[in-house]
Amino acid sequence: VEIRSQGPVEAARKGAKAVLIRSVTNFAFRQPHTGATRYVDDVRKIPAAAIPPEDVMMLARMQARKMPVKLRLVLGAKTLPDRQSANAIGELRGREKPEEVVVIGCHIDSWDVGDGSTDDGSGCIMAMEAARMLKAAKLVPRRTIRVVLFTNEENGLRGGQAYAEAHAEEVHAAAIESDSGSGAPWGLGVVASEEQVAALRVYAPLFDPLGAGAIHVGHGGADISPLTRRGVLSLSVRPDGSHYFDLHHSPADTVDKISPAHLQHNSAAMALMAYILAEREEITTIATEKEGDDHR
Ligand SMILES: [Zn+2]
Repeated sequence: VEIRSQGPVEAARKGAKAVLIRSVTNFAFRQPHTGATRYVDDVRKIPAAAIPPEDVMMLARMQARKMPVKLRLVLGAKTLPDRQSANAIGELRGREKPEEVVVIGCHIDSWDVGDGSTDDGSGCIMAMEAARMLKAAKLVPRRTIRVVLFTNEENGLRGGQAYAEAHAEEVHAAAIESDSGSGAPWGLGVVASEEQVAALRVYAPLFDPLGAGAIHVGHGGADISPLTRRGVLSLSVRPDGSHYFDLHHSPADTVDKISPAHLQHNSAAMALMAYILAEREEITTIATEKEGDDHR
């Protein structure tokens, strides 16, 4: 992903006219894979694009045979002016400490090539479904569980930043993001020390029947990273990601790729962890140098 995001600047510094990268994926079924690309002010902005691995391999074979390779780039991407957007928020109010909040979130924007079903539509379904499950089970947590569907994750993280600023005065007991696709349940990543994660791992047997018992030191999420930097315990729902990048940011990211059973179990894992964190006595804060920004 660094090659995609930093490539145009590094190539321009070396005098390139344009940059083409191999899509950041193992297999993409000949679909190009899009994503954020960064420019800096003092370096010439050159055109940049990703092409499918199969076509990259063909170009490499042509080069190896010393065949002349000529490319004509026709790019349609453009940056439009900013427009107003909004996060969508709903809550299960806490029964004892409603002013303390556990955020469960995802992002509602997506790249426009597919329909964003797994990045991050399924994450949003998990967060909303987690709250619905708790409500249906008549479980009213001690603290408030707040569902936040963040806007503009892919292109600037404005929703996550605006949320953290607007709610800076509130006590956040934890934040859980689901933005890693909709594969088979596996576990939850936690941005915390080994000891803090061990304190959560005692609950792993509750997650095992869902297949989500791997509670491990890991990432939070891009949208909640401004909270992570403020010391809020940050977690991510981590399904099996083996095939996530086959779909990620590509025209193949459509709803037919999602298993309803995986979606249900991942939602239940999110609901369970949110409930535990909203219910347990103590609030864990983390060392702020452990940033959780895995924006990609
Ligand atoms: Zn995403």
